[in-house]
Amino acid sequence: MKSIEHLVRENIKSLEPYSSARSLHLSGILLDANENPYDLFGQPGQPALNRYPNGSNPELKAKIAEQFSAASKQITVGNGSDEIIDLMIRIFCEPRVDRICVCVPTYSMYRVAANIQDVDVLEVPLKDYDLDEAAVQLACLSPTKILFLCNPNNPTSTLYSREKVLRLLDTLNCIVVVDEAYMDFAGEASLIGVLDTYKNLVVMRTFSKAYAMAGVRLGFAFASEEITALLHKVKMPYNINVLTTQAVLEGLDHAARIGPVITELVERRELLEQKLRDFDFVEEILPSHTNFLCVKFTNAEDVFKKMLARHIVLRKLSGPYLAGYLRISVGTEAENRLLLDALTETMGVSTVNSRANA
Ligand code: PMP
Repeated sequence: MKSIEHLVRENIKSLEPYSSARSLHLSGILLDANENPYDLFGQPGQPALNRYPNGSNPELKAKIAEQFSAASKQITVGNGSDEIIDLMIRIFCEPRVDRICVCVPTYSMYRVAANIQDVDVLEVPLKDYDLDEAAVQLACLSPTKILFLCNPNNPTSTLYSREKVLRLLDTLNCIVVVDEAYMDFAGEASLIGVLDTYKNLVVMRTFSKAYAMAGVRLGFAFASEEITALLHKVKMPYNINVLTTQAVLEGLDHAARIGPVITELVERRELLEQKLRDFDFVEEILPSHTNFLCVKFTNAEDVFKKMLARHIVLRKLSGPYLAGYLRISVGTEAENRLLLDALTETMGVSTVNSRANA
């Protein structure tokens, strides 16, 4: 596909975007944005709080480009990757006309964001937790504008092979958003490297998972310059605040801390999985490529309530595909041990040794 212009909503093509003060002038005597000239609440050494940020986020994008071996011109930053999902739907999907396609069960925000815009969602069930290529191809015909692929997938924790995703990209004529929120834990190569080949590809990442900055709210997308320009045209002018920018820039200065933590979390996930398998009330654990486990219990509701009574919060899954499953994030060594102890003590298990090394 040479261009994605034919997929863009007409009103977005003709949109006259908002021209924000701080993307025109950043220094000088700034009397153009009705700001308060006094930085009443800024802290010494911290960014001024009385000025709007630069809406183009050049520093942030340069730093992300360096970290992910990409080019700044391919990057859009969002208030979490949830914002990017919303922007994509608003750019490409005409309400009550177009639709998106998702492979279920998957991250529910794709559906919610579409529903908010009154855009239909076509669901293609996974086959043995893998992509049903033929069904996805059919579902991605017009009026489908966007396919959202979560890889590795939340909440199943499973990974689609790179070959399969590339095969789909080779044949599909819609926009393909690959959400790599958990890719750092999978140890597989990102699709950022093939952006030049696929003009309809958007790769989403976030600092909320492996990068340990969920509270900071920064998600980002890598895409062709054409899609990137559209995202910038539609996004709110100052969607990333100065404190978020500062926190991410500082965090990335210490990016070397992340690798060992990923290794540790993956090892601990494997240990947790092993220990959970000892319980006779654990029916199935899906093969995880993430920092969580998707676990089927014989009595999930009971487990959920008993853990909650001990202030251990698990995520209850539901629906036609994951009833009876709970999603368990990998915690610290102490947290995982508390979970295993609580399961042993409350679920009436006596034969297993769940305490060691979790
Ligand atoms: N994609 C997936 C697959 C997720 O699981 C999440 C968060 N749960 C997000 C995107 C949203 O991430 P962010 O915090 O960047 O909005």
